[in-house]
Amino acid sequence: MMPIDLRSDTVTQPTPAMRRAMAEAPVGDDVYGEDPTVNRLQQMAAGLLGKEAGLFAPSGTMGNLAAVLAHCQRGDEVILGHLSHTYLFEAGGISALGGVHSCQIPNRADGTLDLEQVRSAVRPDDVHHPVTRLVCLENTHNRCGGVALSVDYTRAAGELAHSLGLSLHLDGARLFNAAAALGVPARSLAEPADSVTFCLSKGLSAPVGSVLCGSEAFIRKALRIRKMLGGGMRQAGVLAAAGIVALETMVERLAEDHRRAARLAAQLGSIPGLQLDPGSPHTNMIFAGLAPERPEDAAAVAGRLKAAGVLVGVVGARRFRLVTHAGIDDGAVDRAVQAFRQVLAAGIPAVSSSVT
Ligand SMILES: *Cc1c(COP(=O)(O)O)cnc(C)c1O
Repeated sequence: MMPIDLRSDTVTQPTPAMRRAMAEAPVGDDVYGEDPTVNRLQQMAAGLLGKEAGLFAPSGTMGNLAAVLAHCQRGDEVILGHLSHTYLFEAGGISALGGVHSCQIPNRADGTLDLEQVRSAVRPDDVHHPVTRLVCLENTHNRCGGVALSVDYTRAAGELAHSLGLSLHLDGARLFNAAAALGVPARSLAEPADSVTFCLSKGLSAPVGSVLCGSEAFIRKALRIRKMLGGGMRQAGVLAAAGIVALETMVERLAEDHRRAARLAAQLGSIPGLQLDPGSPHTNMIFAGLAPERPEDAAAVAGRLKAAGVLVGVVGARRFRLVTHAGIDDGAVDRAVQAFRQVLAAGIPAVSSSVT
């Protein structure tokens, strides 16, 4: 039997409709701007987010990097959350490749940044300081439990940034999950931001790609940077075709992943030895830790779950992340719960003697 893979929604497989669209996509050289399928995806994405233009990128990491580099010069400063993906998980690209300095504000539990702290982090005009240029938000916020940031908050952040002469970039890797959870159009969440990245390759199940959206002028700048980063692709319509199908067929069903995450969490919550984070899940991610009476580490438990056919993410010495997606149906939820029960009921394995 195939393992039940709850490590991430990035493990999703392209749907049969995506594979057909990929095989049949009209393509051209996208570096010449001549790939009709890439152009169609970019227009479609921009339209969905209410922006003038879009740019297909091979990954969310490159989309965010191109955005930060388009907003900032070397030595400029970006204000972002200390738990943000860009700060934690993008290999330090904004500083390594862009020379962009970061100012990390503590993320609150709900994924937001305290706007008063953002305001006080802005540098005065003084030769000692870098120039503050950009604020980044993340929606849904991955490390804060997949929580969705509201339209009101995003609007307030945008107003503050703009009143201070800064731009706002939104890392919306899972923006459509946020929209589904809040029951608002994705464009309302994108509206206050000058630029937005979202991933096609996570819950939307496309094999590859993200789209960066913003104004025409901004995207023209980002296009040159994407080329500089090596992200200028040729007949990329083969990939964009799957992205179009993702936007057409996989957005509406995200709410289903959220319902399944809630069902999975409700059942896991009744298993002794496991403690769900308060409020978890907000969308398609469950964060849970081992209870104090379990002395083993999360990696050991994950190893035993793997042997039982269930893959989970280990996100700390004693913490797990479980993500629902199109590859997880109700049967998979039940089997995952069963595996957790079995592994945690088996008791704590005796420490084997080092003397043999
Ligand atoms: C996955 C993710 C990214 C990066 O996307 P990749 O395609 O994996 O490079 C950026 N931000 C957030 C919040 C993510 O979860």
